[in-house]
Amino acid sequence: MKYLTYDLYKEFTCIGGDCPNTCCAFWKIFVDDDSADYYRSVPGPFGRKLKDNLITDDSSRTHIKLHDGVCPFLTDAKLCQIYQELGEDKLCTTCSLYPRFQWFYGDLAFTGLHLSCPEFARTLLLRDDTIQFDYGEDSLPPSDDAMDWPLFNTLVSGMTRSIELMQNRSLCLSDRMRLLLIFNDALTQHFDDGTDCAPLFPVFDSDNVSALAARLENIPKNHADKLSFFLNFGRHLDKFNSNTIVVLRPFLTLHSSYSVDEINSYLAQCDTPEYRLQWEQYSVYFLFCFYMKAYQTRNPRKCIALFAYMYCLGYYFSALLAAEKKRLPTLLERTELLSKLARAFEHSFDKQFDVLYAVSEESGFAETSALLALLC
Ligand code: SF4
Repeated sequence: MKYLTYDLYKEFTCIGGDCPNTCCAFWKIFVDDDSADYYRSVPGPFGRKLKDNLITDDSSRTHIKLHDGVCPFLTDAKLCQIYQELGEDKLCTTCSLYPRFQWFYGDLAFTGLHLSCPEFARTLLLRDDTIQFDYGEDSLPPSDDAMDWPLFNTLVSGMTRSIELMQNRSLCLSDRMRLLLIFNDALTQHFDDGTDCAPLFPVFDSDNVSALAARLENIPKNHADKLSFFLNFGRHLDKFNSNTIVVLRPFLTLHSSYSVDEINSYLAQCDTPEYRLQWEQYSVYFLFCFYMKAYQTRNPRKCIALFAYMYCLGYYFSALLAAEKKRLPTLLERTELLSKLARAFEHSFDKQFDVLYAVSEESGFAETSALLALLC
């Protein structure tokens, strides 16, 4: 089996009680069957507490009963009581893995960390140099799924080219993002038409992208469409799950406190080199996590559209925070903001991203012209 990860993976350590936003609150903590059986067998008062706080839902999945949104096993010192009482090896799969994740496609496992963990967000989004990737291999057999290898290999190349585009610092951020969209638009068109996409790749290699970027000059770069996108998103907020709503509703409230002119002025001010660097790191993370979803949909363009929506929301929320604070948020405050945004969507991201895409598509925000307007 081959493994692909980024260099930050090995360096990650949970900061436990020092974490500004513990992962033990405000989302469902599913407990795998083996752990649930074990917890139900633990004797004594702690065993009773375990039994009292496990719930099995209609689809026979067990999860922990949260108290005011918080795991009842989180101590006042923000440490895990299950870990303390029973040992690390008795944590359920959810708790022992998070924030790590692994996705398997054929002979390749993608191994990473979720941005919803503020400590990982800090190491990723406060970093200056480009993210590097590591390959590893072990003797485990590949997953036995019947693979469409030509599609899989093309998508790995598509993801690699997309990341190269986003890490090309000779171009400004909006040109990179727009070329990312145009490249994946064309790639998706090839999949739809059943035509050979091999000639597309050299067009977007590092020798040619500057000339391509020059052709984007006539597309206006202003932030006006971010406001329309945000308002449209707000109108559909109730379609998202409760985690998403809890995190995002305060921004809608904040929005109503400021004039459009005030917000527009902060949108312009949020376009700083430091923020742009954070977006580069965020985009690489996003592509690594979600690009290969196109193996099921044959639609890599959808991943870029979703990135555009997250970028737009994150950008707009930064401007709202700036309006509230009467100053630009610090890089650390922005990191916390993007980590919160990830938390809102990445728990059951398939469903949440599908809702986000559907409501945006319905309102015309999936059109290429609309996406180009958002990506600036
Ligand atoms: S969110 Fe990250 S740093 Fe915080 S407690 Fe969870 S794993 Fe540790």
